[in-house]
Amino acid sequence: MNLSQRVSLIKPSATMAVTEKATALRARGVDLVDFGAGEPDFDTPEPIKLAAAEALRAGQTKYTPVGGTDALKTAILSKLQRDNGLTYEKTEVLASCGGKHALFLAFQALFGPGDEVVVPAPYWVSYIDMLVLAGAEPRIVRTRAADGFKMTAADLETALTPRCRAIILNSPSNPSGVAYEAHELAPLLDLVARHNLIVISDDVYEMMVYGGFQRTHVLTVRPELRDRTLVVNSVSKTYAMTGWRIGYTAGPAQVIKAMSTLQGQMTSNPSSPAQAAAAHALAGPQDSVTQMVRQFEHRAQFVVQRLAAIPGVECPKPQGAFYVFPNVAAYLNRGAQGPKTGDDLAAYLIDAAHVAVVGGTDFGYPDHIRISYANSMHNLERGLDRIDAALRKLG
Ligand code: PLP
Repeated sequence: MNLSQRVSLIKPSATMAVTEKATALRARGVDLVDFGAGEPDFDTPEPIKLAAAEALRAGQTKYTPVGGTDALKTAILSKLQRDNGLTYEKTEVLASCGGKHALFLAFQALFGPGDEVVVPAPYWVSYIDMLVLAGAEPRIVRTRAADGFKMTAADLETALTPRCRAIILNSPSNPSGVAYEAHELAPLLDLVARHNLIVISDDVYEMMVYGGFQRTHVLTVRPELRDRTLVVNSVSKTYAMTGWRIGYTAGPAQVIKAMSTLQGQMTSNPSSPAQAAAAHALAGPQDSVTQMVRQFEHRAQFVVQRLAAIPGVECPKPQGAFYVFPNVAAYLNRGAQGPKTGDDLAAYLIDAAHVAVVGGTDFGYPDHIRISYANSMHNLERGLDRIDAALRKLG
């Protein structure tokens, strides 16, 4: 059967491929340490599960309004006010099947052939394929480890073309863990204003920041950009709810309406019990988030220290999320048989050391690997021992 031309333009996500390989090895009884996963290792907190169970018992098993139940929209609005100081109306928010779906709808609603969208690299793998599916072109802006992998105003200005319609900001970032401070956002947002760009603010890791980092929202720094900003977020990472598939968007009513029309023809609505769980997560007590973030911070320190002790591995200190993105160039191209790219090195690590990491190519940096520390301290210790030993074996 011939497939559409559209589907030939994209590829499966690199992170999912690693997860699949890790699952297959585990099924064969291999003692694998998995640093590939892009999700918290914690379980969804019990009160959130109970909220879903209660919703099911109360018969919330039917279609809901396309953009989400009134209860979920109310919870989203109160979250945006509480955590970000942002005021939105219900016509300005939409719940979708995960942050990924929210971004997909946003790109479909806003961009098309001839449009370019600025994507600072290293980037989350899916931005590229989702933009391509919308017919738009990613305008990739490379950043430097020396700048902490942060895009500067000079980088952005050099990259802009008359076709650029938007920029994507993901702070803290997957894969680098980098987060922008207010004074770093301001000059970027001034350029956004001057060039009439749209901002896609991907906030899915916003709560995971460490070392006293002061989280500042794009719209706190430049509130006047509200009419040209889409705030995308999700309950996946913050509440360890990746499998529930609830994300949301806040933005101008006209864009939300267009996204809602698309969603109505794609999924009708996100799953109704998952919406009840997400409403509880967003509006209920937030202490589980604080506890989870504290553990991630402790793990981040451990991982950075262990990587720093491996000769030749360079790893900028992350400010947030649950990833590090070390440069492993020192271990590449050492001999005819040895790994040539971070992806080869990832394949070597999973085969020779039974540790799953993701190669950097699909994040835009082939001589890096991404390590997720969403794993227990016990596994982090075991996994880093294995990585250390396997790299030293390369000579
Ligand atoms: N944005 C970034 C940067 C991510 O890393 C992810 C998930 O890995 C998402 C968005 C989407 O997450 P979800 O669809 O689970 O809400």
